[in-house]
Amino acid sequence: MHSHPHYSQSAIHELVRAYPLLKPLMALKPVTWFNPERQPLERALAGVNLTADDVADAAERLGRFAPYFRAVFPDTRALNGLLESPLQAIPAMQRAMDVRHEQPLAGTLLLKRDDLLPVSGSIKARGGIYEVLQHAEKLALKAGLLHLDDDYAKLDSDEFRAFFGRYSVAVGSTGNLGLSIGMISARLGFKVSVHMSADAREWKKALLRHHGVKVVEYRSDYSVAVAEGRAQAQNDPYCHFVDDENSVQLFLGYAVAGQRLKAQLEQQDIKVDREHPLFVYLPCGVGGGPGGVAFGLKLAFGDAVHCVFAEPTHSPCMLLGAYTGLHDAISVQDLGIDNITAADGLAVGRPSGFVGRVMTPMLDGFYTLPDEQLFSLLALLARQENIYLEPSALAGMPGPWRVEGEEQGYRERMGLTQARLSRAHHLVWATGGGMVPKEEMAHYLAAGAAAE
Ligand SMILES: *Cc1c(COP(=O)(O)O)cnc(C)c1O
Repeated sequence: MHSHPHYSQSAIHELVRAYPLLKPLMALKPVTWFNPERQPLERALAGVNLTADDVADAAERLGRFAPYFRAVFPDTRALNGLLESPLQAIPAMQRAMDVRHEQPLAGTLLLKRDDLLPVSGSIKARGGIYEVLQHAEKLALKAGLLHLDDDYAKLDSDEFRAFFGRYSVAVGSTGNLGLSIGMISARLGFKVSVHMSADAREWKKALLRHHGVKVVEYRSDYSVAVAEGRAQAQNDPYCHFVDDENSVQLFLGYAVAGQRLKAQLEQQDIKVDREHPLFVYLPCGVGGGPGGVAFGLKLAFGDAVHCVFAEPTHSPCMLLGAYTGLHDAISVQDLGIDNITAADGLAVGRPSGFVGRVMTPMLDGFYTLPDEQLFSLLALLARQENIYLEPSALAGMPGPWRVEGEEQGYRERMGLTQARLSRAHHLVWATGGGMVPKEEMAHYLAAGAAAE
């Protein structure tokens, strides 16, 4: 299926000579890399066969399903059946971070609350749910059971559950994707199995089983769970495999966030243009979530938005792939990095090649941070703002101060003058935490207090 090159000791030596940042990366030190080859959007889009029309099509599809969500998930009614999250300023956190970094941030710190997304409490409610809806719609349209102008609330019926029950959905996941796919698939009536890696939390497995999802557990890491799930699905024509590493549908589901955020910023009278830059910091695992969201943001704001990806020091797969240009032809394990992190969803050793190739020319930079910092930021945010996130969701938080303190000539290159930076908004994408049980959160807070 996928075969990956093996690197000899001397090949790794050569690589480290050519790419000096690999040395601190392999020593698990926090690294920041600003992409010297970021392209103007128009040029970056030239080689991409996804367009604004594809994203608009996804947004329309989600609109068609809104009556179904209103009927089935009561917490989506406030937003008329759309799955969207609040955007808020976090001034107390901004002040506390200024003190921690001994460096005041010139612009304004914002938090995108995907931890509050309905159904699964994480960013995966965007792409994961979208892909299942897209698949369900396709099946029902083809069978003549559904028409594009129907009221999709009719999907909440025994007739449709029986229909979808003839099909199955499978996914390999470290947790949150499985949660999103599992919840929506089971609700629609699909048979659904989630192939989970060893690092997946017990409470996520228990919750899924409670909702009638088949959970298959593996002793190895995420890529093995994905490969096994993919192999099993391949032998079954009635099974749809959600391929986190390569899925265009997932990507488009995430990308819908771009226009949604644009509307939210307008509502809050926040300007975004060359004179008022927007920075967005996204935690990155395999890349689909941050990649899709960043794609949507680039389409919505063009070159005025600056996207930066954040990863744990033990799982810097996207930085590694983008920086060396090897993308999915190299894994962190090839460099002897262990891919062990407490940040669920970010414990990925090999990035999506599709996302890496499409998105690297549009991204401003990448950085890594240690797990202890994730925990200490988790505790700080809880204290300052009374907001409770899961560790992964804090990865974007130090980003603004990495930009503020950088010495790689990035700000000059991008025309980010002090005047512009003083008008900037720095948006940290809080990717999850809404479903974390109380006892688990207490452990996180204790770990955070110990790390502070
Ligand atoms: C999955 C996940 C991410 C990263 O998304 P990828 O598509 O794997 O890059 C970030 N944060 C949380 C909480 C996640 O669950």
